[in-house]
Amino acid sequence: KKRNPGQDEFVQAVQEVAQDVFDFIEDKEEYHEAQILRRIVEPDRIVSFRVCWEDDNHCVRVQRGWRVQNNNAIGPYKGGIRFHPSVNESVLKFLAFEQTFKNSLTGLPMGGGKGGANFNPKGKSDSEVMRFCQSFMTELYRHIGPDTDVPAGDIGVGAREIGYMFGQYKRITNRWEGVLTGKGTEYGGSKMRPEATGYGAVYFLRNMLQHQGQDVEGKTAVVSGSGNVATHAAEKIVQLGGKVLTLSDSGGFIHDPDGIDQEKIDWVKALKNERRGRISEYVDHFTGASFHEGKRPWDVPCDVALPCATQNELNEAEARELVGNGCMAVAEGANMPTTLEGVKVFHDARILYGPGKAANAGGVAVSGLEMSQNSERISWNHERLGQMLTELMEGIHGKCVEFGEKGGHVDYVRGANIAGFKKVADAMLAFGVM
Ligand code: NDP
Repeated sequence: KKRNPGQDEFVQAVQEVAQDVFDFIEDKEEYHEAQILRRIVEPDRIVSFRVCWEDDNHCVRVQRGWRVQNNNAIGPYKGGIRFHPSVNESVLKFLAFEQTFKNSLTGLPMGGGKGGANFNPKGKSDSEVMRFCQSFMTELYRHIGPDTDVPAGDIGVGAREIGYMFGQYKRITNRWEGVLTGKGTEYGGSKMRPEATGYGAVYFLRNMLQHQGQDVEGKTAVVSGSGNVATHAAEKIVQLGGKVLTLSDSGGFIHDPDGIDQEKIDWVKALKNERRGRISEYVDHFTGASFHEGKRPWDVPCDVALPCATQNELNEAEARELVGNGCMAVAEGANMPTTLEGVKVFHDARILYGPGKAANAGGVAVSGLEMSQNSERISWNHERLGQMLTELMEGIHGKCVEFGEKGGHVDYVRGANIAGFKKVADAMLAFGVM
C-alpha cells in the first residue's frame, strides 16, 4: 500500500494472489532468494501519454492514455485496451497483473499487459470515436508489435474501435501484421474470438459442476452486464439447457422470469452493438420482464451466477444474498467482479467459485490462437476453434484442481493463483536477476 499509494484496485489484486503464493513458496528457497514475488508485482514498464482529439464541434479534447507492460517472461505482453471514464493507472495495473497469471494459465506463450484511456465512447459519434482511436494509436504504435506487445479489446473497445486502431497502425507503419487481436474476420480476426470469453466462462462453470457430478442443464442463471462477455455467456447457458434470468448495464438490471432465450439475446446484442441503447429498453419489447433501476441482479434467486460487467460489482452483502438463495456456483466472466469480502463469503460457504483469471481466460486464449493464425497467414474454422476453446478451458480447470484441491474441495482461486504464478516465476528464475 505504501509503495502504491491510492492504487486500491491494484493492491486488492496483489493481496488476493499474494496470500496463496506466500503459502506455496514458504518452503521454496529459490523463489525467496530471487525475490520473485517482489519482482512480479512491479510492472516492467508503464507508458502514460496524452491523447488529443477534436470533437464534432471542433473543440479540442484531451484524454490520458496508458499501456502497462507488466511481465513478458513467457511471451509478448498481451491484454486488452479499455476505454471508460473510470480508467486510471491503478485499474490498469490491477488488470495487467491479473492478465499475467491468466495468460500463464492458458498454457500459451503470452505475457501480461493492459492499456486504455479515460475516454468515454458513450454518446460519441462514429467519427469522434474514429478520431480518438487514431490519436490513441498514433502514440501507442511505437510501444507495441506482434513480438512485443499485442493489445486486444475490453470494456468500451469492441470490433469498431479495434478496426480504427488497426487501420491507423497499418497506416503509420506500412505493415500488415498481427499487432492487435479481436480484429474483424475480414482482416485477420479469428473466428470464435467474439464468443470466446463468454462461452469459455460457461465451459469453466460446466467443468466445475461436472467435477461435482452436476451439469448446466436445468439450472437457472443470473448474469450481469449486457456487453460482449455477458451476451455470449447467456447464449452458451441457453445452448446447454440452462435458463438465464437477468442481464444488466450501468443503469440497472432486467429480470425476465420466462428466461432470456436466443431470440431475446440477439435483440440485446443488436441493442448494444448497433443502436448502442440501454438495457432498460428490454421491458418495452418483452412482456413479463421488469427493470430495476440502479440495482444489481444478485438478489434474484438462482442456481448459478455469472458476473460479466466490471470489477467490484458484487460485494459481501450481495454474496451472502446469493448463497442464502441457494446459488451453488459462481463463474466470473468479468475481471475481479467480486470484492475480497465477497470472495470470502463464497469460500466460507464452500460453493464453487471460479475467479475471473481462470473462468474468463477463454477470450485471451483464442486471442493467442489469433496470433498464431496471423503468423502462419491462415484461418482456422469455427468448429476447430470451438474444440480448441473447450480443451483450453478443460486444461485450465485441470490446473486449478491440481493446485487447489484439498480434502475433497477445490479452492479455484488458490489453484489458479499458484498454477499461474509458478510458470511465470520459473521462467523469471531461468533469466537470472534482471
Ligand atoms: P463491454 O463493454 O462489451 O460490456 C460491459 C458491460 O458491463 C456493459 O453492459 C456495461 O454497461 C457494464 N458496465 C461497465 N462498467 C460498469 C459499471 N461501472 N457498473 C455497471 N455496469 C458496468 O465489455 P466486455 O463484455 O468486453 O467486458 C466485461 C468484463 O469482462 C470486463 O471486466 C472485462 O475486463 C472482462 N473481460 C472481457 C474480455 C473480452 O474478451 N471482452 C476478456 C476477459 C475479461 P454500460 O453499457 O452501461 O456501461
